[in-house]
Amino acid sequence: MQPQTRLTLAGQRTDASYNSIIPPIYQCATFRFEDVGLTKGYDYTRSGNPTRRTLEEVLAELEGGAGAVATTSGMAAISTVLSLFESGAHIICAHDCYGGTERLLCLLERQGKLEVSFVDLRDLSAVEAALRPNTRALWVETPSNPLLRIVDLQALGHFTQAHQLLLIVDNTFLSPLQQRPFEFGADIVVYSTTKYLNGHSDVIGGAVIARTPELNEQLQFAANAHGTIAGPFDCWLVLRGLKTLPVRLRQHEHNAMAVARFLAQHPNVEKVFYPGLPTHEGHELAARQQKGFGGMVSFTVRGGQEAVHHVLRSTKVFTLAESLGGVESLIEHPATMSHASMRPEQRQAAGITDNLIRLSVGIEATEDLIADLEQALAYKPATIMA
Ligand SMILES: *Cc1c(COP(=O)(O)O)cnc(C)c1O
Repeated sequence: MQPQTRLTLAGQRTDASYNSIIPPIYQCATFRFEDVGLTKGYDYTRSGNPTRRTLEEVLAELEGGAGAVATTSGMAAISTVLSLFESGAHIICAHDCYGGTERLLCLLERQGKLEVSFVDLRDLSAVEAALRPNTRALWVETPSNPLLRIVDLQALGHFTQAHQLLLIVDNTFLSPLQQRPFEFGADIVVYSTTKYLNGHSDVIGGAVIARTPELNEQLQFAANAHGTIAGPFDCWLVLRGLKTLPVRLRQHEHNAMAVARFLAQHPNVEKVFYPGLPTHEGHELAARQQKGFGGMVSFTVRGGQEAVHHVLRSTKVFTLAESLGGVESLIEHPATMSHASMRPEQRQAAGITDNLIRLSVGIEATEDLIADLEQALAYKPATIMA
């Protein structure tokens, strides 16, 4: 069966009591024992819950992993993974990783728990140079945020295998339908399900999927020990969101490509960042390792800060807000919003200029999105700067 079919069937036939088509929400903290020492498979929701289990099984199958843990946020997923490492372990992380990941890694480093190197993972010799005797893992995000840089998962998979490191991929900017990190040698895949997997901007959630049963067992243990697990209702919402993931993605990608092409020819747009454009630096690699180019588009505008503010204030279909991957289109300003916690020099080094705007392209009618951007970009750079 194709993923689209599997997902529409997700969670069906889990209700033995009444045959509900949609799985019930087991919104309960604890479960009655049948007898001393005898349960029906669940005793306490932190350790296991049928609604969460259903989501975890769907995610593990979709990704092709041995098992999954559904967590209370993407950051809880990341914390759960990082808790696997012994004190003093060294992690090599993408230099342009998600801000929350950077904040957590730096905190753990300040506390003397982990050593961290932030490296441009497109440069394999830089990765090699960052290796230490205590290096344990490579932390990858591709496409990256907000410039949609692409790193070579196959090459990094060979590298981590040769050096016996864990390859951990945060696949949040895509989904298991568009990029399959396990096929390139990844050991762990991480998601913020807040984004495309749930897709409706009504849940904060995360997931960790392990390639092997051994890693899955360690992650289940860590999630129970740290209590990073997701609540039943949130799991149920993500399950519901997943059923429409394939059709949502099709429209996200169709719209993102149209928006990227429109922006690329606009006189007030300096540069467009979208892996689907042949002009994108990582286009060929993305075409090789991804099954789609995703729904995120970034671009820089001409006319300085006034122009940036004008565009951010003028859109009516694109809403000014952080986050991504929901059905509604969002527009945001990385320098003052999603990436504001970075120091200016750090932002500069990462290529995040003050005139950069990021779009999460939703599933609305394509022509409405284009028309919205067209009216927002209809200014004269010389006038607006005055
Ligand atoms: C949003 C995001 C996270 C964090 O997820 P939360 O659900 O907000 O905790 C991690 N990684 C990436 C790439 C993200 O976009």
